[in-house]
Amino acid sequence: MKTFISAYEAKAIPLYRESAIASWNANITGTAEDYSKSEKASFEYARIFTDSVAFKELKTIKESQAMKDPVLIRQLELLYNSYLGGQVDTALLAQQIRMETEISKKYANFRVTLNGKQISDNEVENILKTSTNSSDLKTAWEGSKLIGPVVAPDVIKLVKHRNLIARKTGFSNYHEMSLKLSGQDPQEVTKLFDELDNLTRDNFAKLKGDIDTFFAKRYKIKTSDIRPWHYQNRYFQESPEIYPVNLDKYYANQDPVKLASVFYNGIGLNVDAILAKSDLYEKPGKNQHAFCTDIDRSGDVRTLDNIRPDSYWMNTILHELGHGVYSYYNDMTLPFTLRDAAHTFTTEAIAEFFGRLAKDPQWMLGMGVIDKKESDLISDDCHKSLRLQMLVFSRWAQVMYRFEKSMYENPDQNLNELWWNIVEKYQLLTKPEARDMPDWATKIHVALYPCYYHNYLMGELLASQLYYYLTTNVAKGQTLVGDKAVGTYLKEKIFMPGARYYWNDMIEKATGEKLTAKYYAKQFVE
Ligand SMILES: [Zn+2]
Repeated sequence: MKTFISAYEAKAIPLYRESAIASWNANITGTAEDYSKSEKASFEYARIFTDSVAFKELKTIKESQAMKDPVLIRQLELLYNSYLGGQVDTALLAQQIRMETEISKKYANFRVTLNGKQISDNEVENILKTSTNSSDLKTAWEGSKLIGPVVAPDVIKLVKHRNLIARKTGFSNYHEMSLKLSGQDPQEVTKLFDELDNLTRDNFAKLKGDIDTFFAKRYKIKTSDIRPWHYQNRYFQESPEIYPVNLDKYYANQDPVKLASVFYNGIGLNVDAILAKSDLYEKPGKNQHAFCTDIDRSGDVRTLDNIRPDSYWMNTILHELGHGVYSYYNDMTLPFTLRDAAHTFTTEAIAEFFGRLAKDPQWMLGMGVIDKKESDLISDDCHKSLRLQMLVFSRWAQVMYRFEKSMYENPDQNLNELWWNIVEKYQLLTKPEARDMPDWATKIHVALYPCYYHNYLMGELLASQLYYYLTTNVAKGQTLVGDKAVGTYLKEKIFMPGARYYWNDMIEKATGEKLTAKYYAKQFVE
């Protein structure tokens, strides 16, 4: 195993780095040349895991059950899954990456056209958030959905192609393969989603009623005339602002990057090196979303954002830097394979844990964004607003999880109908009359970050679990601001162990309990 690892690291480390840098560059410039470099580099990296001789070697070691060293055993587990995922015809794999790159370009270059003028996603969101004119809202929302027909046929081809790969690897479809290879049992995840559905359904229905009453007044229409464009964003994935607290105004004259940097440094998690390498503001051709990337698992960590001074981007930069510190404070004495998060959702948990602070009046007070009087004034509405945000998000995550699962189980079914059936069931939205469009394809995650969305919700559960643990057992006061014990705990219990332990073992070691939904319910369901 040790010999195997040495040979593996000699190949993997440089190719991992090259691929991460090429992808970073492509996301920033959006040029065909950079995308083609990125495609080539990610293919070269992925090709490592297609080595069938190496896979047989791992299989022999695994079946011998001869190893006793837990660090080697853990590396074997992770590498075995990576190589199993790579036992695919190289031509099929190359084709998959080519398809993904083509689709990625279409998303990056798409701009909504409104009154003959091209506008950015930020501007679409701005119209949906601020306009009170139903016909303007409808036009902006429908405009944003026009990417759907542009990419849908390509996405269906890609889904079938991924399924072909999964079947050749011994799985029934790509969704099942993705979860299993990432160390999750699909039945266990579905069970967790069913429990959450039960836990949130009634409360959400009640709050959704409040939302509709609020919007009927705001738009001067009947509640029965409310449609998906009335909810202030393209997918109803975030909660509309129905409480009289407008957090954007507090951030309008703030610098989200500076606030985030002061905060993280204050709890003993230094983000200067991350920010110095990051690309933070809007540019033509640049990816309009946000992400964080660990370039080399040796301290080169970067985040791409499109920051504006508002609460959305305050949340986002706190979120991305959460991923950032998780990577940055990895234990550099661990082998390369274990210098990673315990699971992708555990890094989402840390990101969300920090992202939520953007709406926390205690935090805003501690950071000097508002004063004590203002903090007391908005505290109740802020809690209601966060609760709404969490419930709205949990229902949206249900849509994504169940749609993807069903799509991979049968990509030939009527996906437009499937999407709206699930949206109506879980988000309680009303489908626009006779709408038969591939609205599912407008969500970039369906195409390019497949079978991943459920991790955001599992991340939320863990974020709540960590929040209770930290505020009960670690933090000295009410607020986390300036509390170095918080940074120390996270470094020692979460970041440094990296992928050393199976995710649920890591959570148990850090909090005394395995992952549970009860703290999420405690925090957000009454
Ligand atoms: Zn994230």
